Amino acid sequence: MHQHRTRVPLLILTGGLWLGSIARGAPQRETATSLRETLSRTGVFFRADAPSVLRNREDPYLPVYLEIINGVEKTGKSALTAVRQYVTREPLKLEGVNIFVKPAGARRQFATEPLLVGESKDFSFDARTGGQPFVITDRMKKTLEIPRELLQAYLSAHYLGGPFELVDLWVAFRVAGWPSQNVYLRVRLNATPLPKIPNWYRGDIHYHSAFTDNPAERGHPLDVTKQAALHAGLNWLLLADHSTDLNPERWAQALREVVKYRDGRFLFIRGEELTVASAKETLLTSVHMLALPSPDNPDQGFPSSEGAADTVMMTGDGSVASPALPLREALQRVSAAGGFAYAAHPFDPVSPVLRGGSWDVDLDFLAPGGKALQTGLVGLQPWNRSTTVTADDARDPYCLRRDADPSTCFQPDKDADHYARLEKGIELG
Ligand SMILES: [Zn+2]
Repeated sequence: MHQHRTRVPLLILTGGLWLGSIARGAPQRETATSLRETLSRTGVFFRADAPSVLRNREDPYLPVYLEIINGVEKTGKSALTAVRQYVTREPLKLEGVNIFVKPAGARRQFATEPLLVGESKDFSFDARTGGQPFVITDRMKKTLEIPRELLQAYLSAHYLGGPFELVDLWVAFRVAGWPSQNVYLRVRLNATPLPKIPNWYRGDIHYHSAFTDNPAERGHPLDVTKQAALHAGLNWLLLADHSTDLNPERWAQALREVVKYRDGRFLFIRGEELTVASAKETLLTSVHMLALPSPDNPDQGFPSSEGAADTVMMTGDGSVASPALPLREALQRVSAAGGFAYAAHPFDPVSPVLRGGSWDVDLDFLAPGGKALQTGLVGLQPWNRSTTVTADDARDPYCLRRDADPSTCFQPDKDADHYARLEKGIELG
């Protein structure tokens, strides 16, 4: 069956590398709710994630990333204070992590035996040593790599009707004295590789990595991020951790990791998501901006002046009352460093606590005079986590651009609009 490619924007892929960051399926939504409850109740955070799609047939493994955080921050960090205090918990005794798999769909139930690889090896993760559980005082991270061939063999041994392309995983953390902590994931196996187009590089302009480390948003380490990105068919990814999650030390460490994981297949770029005061200049009208470094010198960051040591901007504390750098000044600094900027989720305000409001098309996008975009501002991120309408939808934020009339926005399957559909990333040509 030919699937309409509505969720494959060409230039900008936001979120969706890992299932945990999109959580569109019903089981994932339920899990998110129960995880939030768990988090508020106990300060313990269980996470399991897997790439939402596997496009590289030659890669033999499905990675499943596991993370347990025992004790969350009592107070958030801020750019100014870099305060972080953990609510400490009793050590957790992890016995293991069971993983079950089934073909996707409500009609099929999970077989109660965990997925096995090989004759006797439990493919699930047994954390015990000499019968004793693994003790977690603060956190644990681990990636399980499941051989895909054995995954298929398991499915065909347990379910009728294969081969199966869409599978559900049930990841159950077994902790002594705790009820099972469950996470559900859905993975598309053997997806069609994206077409290769000369001089086109697919990437993610807005990604929060593990340098974002707070209870509201928490990112993945760069090694597993790269793994998922390659599976998804991406060539590059911008680390756009919030200024409020950064400090000079983390900023420097981010560069070391960005360089470490960069290779001929994949490029990490170190950038920043800034909270800046929008042109409306009232307290609650700050917006989020994605700052990208100079393409000629991507690792230098955003020096405040020639040769300056401070290369991270860190403007806009996360707190509501803190001052944020005016948008124009932030753009000036990014431009002076040879970089450029995108409007982050411009039409989708995030929570007031996070201070990311809507961009004003006239006041914020346009330079005085209204004829051109502000210097340094080169793009926008209309599709993002909060925008679930696809690029084929008349309500698409693309239609909200200046003077756009929704009735003239491009509708699905109108063949005459090839160029527009190409421009919007719906089709390739
Ligand atoms: Zn944001």
